[in-house]
Amino acid sequence: MGKKRRPPRPPKEEPKQPSGNRCWGRTGPFFLRRCDKRTPSRTCPDHKHQWLYVPFILLPAIGGYATTVISLGQFFKPQTKDEITLAQTIYTRISLIAHSWKGEYLTLHPKGWDLVTDPATRNMSVWQVLIERVPPFTKEDWLRYKPLFFVRLENIRSELQGVLAAYGSQLPPSMKTAIENTRGQLTADYTLYYWLGRNIADDRMPADMANMMFRSALIGAFQTLGALATEAERLRDSK
Ligand SMILES: [Zn+2]
Repeated sequence: MGKKRRPPRPPKEEPKQPSGNRCWGRTGPFFLRRCDKRTPSRTCPDHKHQWLYVPFILLPAIGGYATTVISLGQFFKPQTKDEITLAQTIYTRISLIAHSWKGEYLTLHPKGWDLVTDPATRNMSVWQVLIERVPPFTKEDWLRYKPLFFVRLENIRSELQGVLAAYGSQLPPSMKTAIENTRGQLTADYTLYYWLGRNIADDRMPADMANMMFRSALIGAFQTLGALATEAERLRDSK
């Protein structure tokens, strides 16, 4: 069976009255109905002066739009004075969290704080000094640094978690990345130090291997904590 041929569409009927001859005013509830008087608007008795309404419609619309734009602009304006102060406080806190681990380390280090006050290291950042001056490690040193990894490290992880939970929405992505990197690295360092302890306890590990594990646990922590503190201080000082 072939397709039925569609009959040609009849041409559209032109309106009998050109619209210019009808009133274009509106009437009825909510002005939803056309006036429909067969007379141009300018001579329609009801709609002769309807252009006078135009300003009363346009002005509130423009005013409402402007008010919305201005108030939203105020709302999303990123930095008031108080917000800057809050941000700087948060960055300082993050930086202090990182530096507190360094302080704990230096009190345990045989040379202590002399390590960073040494004139020979004046041009290096404190984190660089710590990375380059990791002391030699012997089996007996494991207990000495144990609180650093088993107590303080856990504190720092949870403090950083607290900062993220409280202020995460106000921190830029670079800061959140640095915090997450640090938390991950500290977890790895804890595991490393734990296994170091297990292995040196029953003399399963050669001394140079233990030394290397110790170095890598410390240096990993210094690198990420240093990056965290540096980024926090950069953001704080750029405000
Ligand atoms: Zn009319």
